[in-house]
Formats: sequence, structure tokens, C-alpha cells
Amino acid sequence: MKQRHLLLALAIGASTISLSGCKKEPAEPATTAAPAAAKGETADEFIARVNDEYRKLYPEINSAQWLSSTYINDDSQMLAAKANERYLTQLNGWIAQARKFEGQKMTPDTARSIQLLKLMTAMPAPKDPAKLTELTQIATKMEGMYGSGSYCTGEGAAKQCRQLGELEDVLRSSRDYDKQLDAWQGWHTIAQPMRKDYTRFAELVNEGAKEMGFADTGEMWRSGYDMTPVEIAAETDRLWGQVKPLYEQLHCYTRTKLEAQYGNDKGQVNGLLPAHLLGNMWQQDWGNLWDMLEPYKGVGSLDITAALEKEYQADYARELAKAGAAPIADKQFAAERAAQLDVAKQMTERAQDFYTSLGMPKLPESYWTKTQFIKPLDRDVVCHASAWDMNMAGDVRTKMCIKPNEEDFTTIYHELGHIYYDLAYNKQPPLFQGGANDGFHEAIGDTMVLAMTPKYLNSIGMVDTPQQGNEALINSQMRMALAKVSFLPFGLMIDRWRWGVFDGSIKPDHYNQAWWELKAKYQGVGPATPRGEEFFDPGAKYHVPGNTPYTRYFLSHILQFQFYKGLCDASGYKGPLYDCTFYGNKVAGQKFWAMLEKGSSQPWQATLKELTGSDKADAGAVLEYFGPLQTWLKQQNEGKTCGWPAPAAASAAPKPTTGKG
Ligand SMILES: [Zn+2]
Repeated sequence: MKQRHLLLALAIGASTISLSGCKKEPAEPATTAAPAAAKGETADEFIARVNDEYRKLYPEINSAQWLSSTYINDDSQMLAAKANERYLTQLNGWIAQARKFEGQKMTPDTARSIQLLKLMTAMPAPKDPAKLTELTQIATKMEGMYGSGSYCTGEGAAKQCRQLGELEDVLRSSRDYDKQLDAWQGWHTIAQPMRKDYTRFAELVNEGAKEMGFADTGEMWRSGYDMTPVEIAAETDRLWGQVKPLYEQLHCYTRTKLEAQYGNDKGQVNGLLPAHLLGNMWQQDWGNLWDMLEPYKGVGSLDITAALEKEYQADYARELAKAGAAPIADKQFAAERAAQLDVAKQMTERAQDFYTSLGMPKLPESYWTKTQFIKPLDRDVVCHASAWDMNMAGDVRTKMCIKPNEEDFTTIYHELGHIYYDLAYNKQPPLFQGGANDGFHEAIGDTMVLAMTPKYLNSIGMVDTPQQGNEALINSQMRMALAKVSFLPFGLMIDRWRWGVFDGSIKPDHYNQAWWELKAKYQGVGPATPRGEEFFDPGAKYHVPGNTPYTRYFLSHILQFQFYKGLCDASGYKGPLYDCTFYGNKVAGQKFWAMLEKGSSQPWQATLKELTGSDKADAGAVLEYFGPLQTWLKQQNEGKTCGWPAPAAASAAPKPTTGKG
């Protein structure tokens, strides 16, 4: 679920690993100097040159990265690291050269380009070659620890090791308190050895950030929003304040249901939701608790997975019938693979159809031949969904291991959002080929997902005529809320913790305490057993060892509702927001495309205004969308004491990081 874009080092993935150019850092200090600035070059000429050099460098890095993600072995890793080393060397050279233009006359576009150039990596490296090497080695090591993380139990023949996927399966499907606790604790053991590395990592990136003129790495991360670092921090607080009452209602309802399932003593921890009982390792999506939280059993069920499974079976039967005289096992295997690929492509065609229905172009032919649709069987690949712009000239691809289920179906719509953004802004100079801000890039495809209403799904033959009535509505709203509303405080707290780590208000000997205080404060989630400083629980979430900034996901979850409403308005829709789909509406499509074409060429506020009429991020559309559910939740929670106590140690804790500039 991520845009892969070297330019802004956007390695984005709500639940995925990131692998962009900034990830596979060179293992050795860069020794080749970047080309020196030409004598007498003006700032405008400098930026023109950087754009030109970057465009030339870009395809090679991408090819190496694509290869190393779709064909994992030592050789491809080495090539990717080397290509990346060349890129980082070049980048450092550009940033150094840009300094001499400070205070000089230049066009606004050039000034903006220079600003963007400085924010091209989320991992600012110290200039000292030895420290740069140390930093990249730690980064690689932590990523490896996460990627190969495994929880083993038993001895000898009874020894059993499970990786993240298997442990997640337990949280998803088991309702056995102890088994869930074991799976949750088990995964968190993999992060314990990262504590020392992360401490050093924070020191080193801070040194790099300071050398670039930032107070610390957190301030650098907050500098990419066309407002001051203090202002964006305050903005996210304000937006959270808008949606918090809705989250509190969902929290309250969920706690009641957990208590009913597990008992009063186990279904909550001092009013907090037990971390291991929410169906998700990080409590960022509660959709797996549908069996407990479904408001009206079986009403208006939209079983997309069943529809896709049926499609798969039909493909399989057809492929099997086509097969010749080969042995039955071989025929079955070949038919299985062919059917998997068929259905994956059919799913992607449906997603493409949504975009083309808006008047956007078809994906280029090369997309269909070069994309990784399903998991290859002859080699290791990174399965995490991602979207790639290979050459800024139409070679776009997605990389997934698609299975015929609802989650993968909507993920395709999400990934194509990145691809269409790429295609739309490809005509911009390379330095402007990025999202208006990093939250925009994540929000495009999700906006389409919001428009996948029961009516739309029925119109493409995925589900039967949708059931009408309030119960069906509440069920469908709950489904969406478990994905979108439960995520909001999580999207915020990860960087609250890192901002504090980077600015020194969270000290290494309080890493875990501060983590759980923020989990409690924002999510109302707590651990069922003590989590002292012998643990390093932040490291059990990919984006911490993977060093991917996270505020973008919070912003995306607000912005996508604003985009959705803006496009519904543009399409002339009148009616309740949650019922709107702009599928097939060319006017809305044109407006969306015009926004995508702008890339990062202007402040995001201007881009937002062109689409929605407002230059301010605002959660009003979230609240409007979930209006019926919020009313319903209030009724359900009547007479209950909602909310949760502030974390016990909050007063003794390090200075809260909110609002920190
Ligand atoms: Zn994404």
C-alpha cells in the first residue's frame, strides 16, 4: 500500500514495508563526488540541471530496486545497494550545491524546488563517512530484524517458529484470550534487540538533520507541509480534536463487546482496550472483530470475497477444461496458477474501470506485462503491495501477491491511486513529481474506495441488489468505521512518539513507557501485562525500524473524506454523503485529474482549494459521512461511562510531544 517515489523518498505503507531509494542505503560511505556546480550557474539553471540529472538517474535506480524486490538474492541486493549509493551521493552533492544560492534571486518555482530537494530523504545522514556507514548499517540491520522476525516456542521436535503473518492469523481468527496474548507477546519479542540500535539510529539521523539546518529529525519531517513545523503539529492536534468524539463512541461500544466476549476482568485493562484483543497487531484496524461488533447479524451483507472466490472457481474450471493430456496433478496445478492470474487481472481491470469511468486514461499496455500480479513460486519476492513509477515516462507497475478477497480488491484501487497520480504529474519537472503533500498520495486511491458503495458494487455485478433500511446502513457504516475511524489515533501516535524521541523529550530509558502512555492517551489501548523497559514495543511496527514517517497516514484518513465530498459535489450529487458514488462521472473525474496533474508544484493548500473550495484540512466530511453511525453508537452507549482514564504516569512522563515545533 505504498507509493514508491525516490524523489521524496516516500516509502509509504500503512501496513507494509517500505523499500524506496532511501531504504537500501549504501553500506559504504560514498566516495564519488557529485559533479560540481557549473561556474556562474544561476539558481534557475541549477534546478534545471538537477531536474535533468535526476531524470536520467531515475530509471536505473528503479530497475535495480524492482529487481531486488521481485527477485530477491544476493546479486540483486548488491546491485540495488550500489545504485542507491550512487543516487545518495548525487543527492548529497545537489544539496551541498544548493546552499550557495541561499538569499539569491530566483523564481518561486526554483525556491520551491530547492526546498523539496532538502526533504528528499526521511533519513538524513551525517556527512562524516564513518557515521554515514554506521547509520546505513543500522538501518539495514533493523529492517532485516523486522523482516526475518520469528517467534519460536517448544524444544527439539516440538519447536515451532512463527513469523508475523502466522501470528497475525491468530489475532484475526482466534478468540482464545491466552492464544491471542501469546501471539501478540511473541511478535513483540522480535523488537527487543532493536532498542540499542534504534537509540543510536536516532542520534545519527539527528546529526544529519542538524547539519542540514533542522533542529532535529522530527522538525525536518514536519517541514514538508507548506507551513511551519509548529503549525503542522498543531493542525494534526486540531483535526484529531474534531474526530475524537466519534472515536470515543466506537471505543466505548467495542469495550462493551469485548467485555461481553471475554468477561469484565479480561475485556478491558483499567478502561483501556487490551492490545492483544483487537484483531490486529497494532490495533490500527478493528475490522477482524466483525464477528463481535457487527450491529445487525447478517443484514445487508456485502460479501465481496465470496463473489471473487466464485469468479476464481469459474476460471479454474475453464482452465482445467482447456488442459490437454498431461497427468491430472500437473493439469490441476497449471489450471490453478492460470486461474489465480486470471482473477487477479480481472480484479485489476475492475479497478482500472473505475478510473477510466472518470475519463482517466487506460493503464499503458506495459503495465499489464510488467506488473507482478501474483506470487511467483520460483523465487523470493516482497509481497507487500506497492506502486512504482519506473521512468517518469509511462512505465508504471504495481507489485502485489493478489488473492481473491475483499482486502486485496480494495488494495488494488488504492495502489492504482498512486499510479494515476504518477501518470498525471509525469509532465511536471522531476522535482515536482510528488504528492501535494505525502498525505495526498495515500488518499487518492482511498477516495475511490469510499466511492465503492453497495450501489456501485451491485452495478459491476459484485453483489446482489443492496438491502435498504437503517440496519443495513449501520452495518455498512460500522464496517467502514472499523477500518477508517479506528486508525485515526494510531496514525497520530506513532510520530508523536518519534517526534519526542528525536527532540529528546523522550529519553532512551523511557522509550517503552512513553510508547504506552501515548497508546493510552490517543488510542485508549493498553497492554494486558506489564511492558517495562526490557521491551522495545515501538520496534514491532514496521515503520519504526523501517523509518517511514507516519503522519501522512493520519492526514490521508482525513483528506480522503474531503476529496470524496469534493468529488461528490462536483458530480452534482445531492443526498447523504455516505451514499454517494461518482463512478462514471466525467466532471468529477476532470476535477480530480486536474488536481493530480499539479503534483507538488504548488503548496498543497492551493491544490486542496482547487478541488474542494477550501484550503484547510478539515474532518467535517468524516463526521458528516459517519453521522448515522455516531448517532447509533451514542444510543448503544447510553448509560455507560465512556472514555478512559489518562495514563497513570502521564504527569511524571517526559514533556508531551504534541505541539512541539
Ligand atoms: Zn499507499
